[in-house]
Amino acid sequence: MSDGAEPGTMSPWRATVLTLYPEMFPGPLGLSLSGDALARGAWSLEARNIRAHGLGRHRNVDDTPAGGGAGMVLRCDVLGPAIDAAAPADDPRPRLLMSPRGRPLTQARVRALAEGPGAVIVCGRFEGVDERVIEGRGLEEVSIGDYVLSGGEIAALVLIDACVRLLPGVMGKPASGVDESFEGGLLEYPHYTRPREWEGRAIPDVLMGGNHAAIARWRAERSRALTRARRPDLLRDDKL
Ligand code: SAH
Repeated sequence: MSDGAEPGTMSPWRATVLTLYPEMFPGPLGLSLSGDALARGAWSLEARNIRAHGLGRHRNVDDTPAGGGAGMVLRCDVLGPAIDAAAPADDPRPRLLMSPRGRPLTQARVRALAEGPGAVIVCGRFEGVDERVIEGRGLEEVSIGDYVLSGGEIAALVLIDACVRLLPGVMGKPASGVDESFEGGLLEYPHYTRPREWEGRAIPDVLMGGNHAAIARWRAERSRALTRARRPDLLRDDKL
């Protein structure tokens, strides 16, 4: 509970997804920790079919790109009304468009979204969506990485999964969210569990010694070394 709200008065985190494939939801989010939390009402998910706002007898949603070129573009006069029906103008949730052109998703952005009321998430298909609906509805473009998917649905699942696991009470132990990769600006140290030796490889002695200060030092050192080797970009001061 934040802001001193009475237990039970905080409304659950709410995701609304606009998609041509609502059957893809909740998909994997209906299982495991996110699925249990969904069943408990700790968050909610509504997948709305953009095609319900399609035009004509065939409920058309797309058309050829102005200026020519390959593929099809989602029409603004379909997506606009679909967004308006899903989220009225006074809906406080951010409106996101999954897009390879977007600002890459980070753990910091995920944390900010998880602390808010939820998100309205538009999934593109085909070549993308008409630029005017991005401007007209103030959509924030969000990318999940520098590669191209065939649609925004899997990207939306990624974003929602990352948010939901941070909601209060969703993960087993509150501490398990705090020292992971990215949370401290570094990659996480290696983990080990039983057996003590496997195929000639032993668990590092320091982890078996019970000296918590030495363990913390070893982990911090491993985190820094891994980050230096694999993601030097995370160590730069000027990173966004
Ligand atoms: N022609 C577009 C790519 C369209 S891919 C371009 O070059 O930018 C079709 C849809 O998949 C997009 O509208 C978007 O919703 C989704 N998508 C593809 N790659 C993505 C990524 N890396 N992150 C988020 N969404 C993505």
